[in-house]
Amino acid sequence: MQIIPEIALAHDEIQAIRRDIHAHPELGYEETRTSDLVADKLASWGIEVTRGLGKTGVVGVLRHGSGRKAVGLRADMDALPIQELNTFGHASRHANRMHACGHDGHTSMLLGAAKYLSQHRHFDGTVVFIFQPAEEGGGGAKAMMDDGLFERFPVDAVFALHNWPGMPAGEFGARVGATQASSNEFEIRVKGVGAHAAIPQDGVDPVLTAMHIGTGLQSILTRNKRPIDAAVLSITQIHAGDAVNVIPDTATIGGTVRTFSVDVLDLIETRMKAIAEATAMAYGCSVEFTFRRKYPPTVNSEAATHFALGVMQGIVGAHRVHTNVDPTMGAEDFAYMLLEKPGCYAYIGNGLGDHRDLGHGMGTCMLHNTSYDFNDGILPLGSTYWVRLTESFLKPA
Ligand SMILES: [Zn+2]
Ligand SMILES: [Zn+2]
Repeated sequence: MQIIPEIALAHDEIQAIRRDIHAHPELGYEETRTSDLVADKLASWGIEVTRGLGKTGVVGVLRHGSGRKAVGLRADMDALPIQELNTFGHASRHANRMHACGHDGHTSMLLGAAKYLSQHRHFDGTVVFIFQPAEEGGGGAKAMMDDGLFERFPVDAVFALHNWPGMPAGEFGARVGATQASSNEFEIRVKGVGAHAAIPQDGVDPVLTAMHIGTGLQSILTRNKRPIDAAVLSITQIHAGDAVNVIPDTATIGGTVRTFSVDVLDLIETRMKAIAEATAMAYGCSVEFTFRRKYPPTVNSEAATHFALGVMQGIVGAHRVHTNVDPTMGAEDFAYMLLEKPGCYAYIGNGLGDHRDLGHGMGTCMLHNTSYDFNDGILPLGSTYWVRLTESFLKPA
């Protein structure tokens, strides 16, 4: 393993930053303390800082030489509305706020790299450090882009790194193409006519109709889309009625749809609407169909992904790099950046849980778990990845 020696020596410093951020988690667009910390550190290392993109986002720019190439390195800063069950010293100081996705680690690893690069400028061109707010559902990446991120700070490619529990520490992974799914929400409100539950012939039952719609929707996955195209349609909410002896006026079902391509998403949305409307009509009801597209699929470009995989292999060896990791049905708003720029969203192994410290909660160390904690042991490896990626991408002629 080729950890950069100066970064290995800075392990305690990077870990202190990580634990400080972990103890003070902030939700999407509220990352004021975190962005202050990030901006102060960057400025103290002589890196040019711009704030306020996407409200709390921070951009650091480091130039060296006369090269015109530029690379974007992105970390996320937000926490989740979760009550942390860990009791160790750096556990969250705030109720119902927790760094349960490791964004504290992502921010710290990129800061570790920024410090090193500011002191050892073995590159020719421009590094753009992107610290984004609100990854967890708030679309912070898009908010920064709407504020002119890539117009004000042009880059030739953009990269992101997410920790992955269950992947051994010291390993990396990525894949060409779709790596995370699109995330979408739907709500189908079925309107009937309420009646006495014992005199159903006087009403039009929206509950029975909603149940038929719910069952019918699953046929889209097996009968309409190609079997080789992955997709999930989960109904997660059913709301109707207040009394057992009353047929209500309305019934509402809601849920989520995930796909790896926009084409499949278009097909599913079209068929859902058709099934909802036709089924409702068959039973004498009407529907209001609402479909909200949230994050698009995260699609890695081929050249940038091969490039990133090569950087990983140079650090940990080919046998520790998964070049074709499984895609997940989770979603990630780095997807928006990949719609505009070539790039790669990669994984760094967070280990198998053996980093769990005294005071760890009973749960697993999986992302979004109440007992999750970022593995401090991998901080130098992550920082090394960012440095080597920059030095390769902006290789002096
Ligand atoms: Zn998350
Ligand atoms: Zn995350």
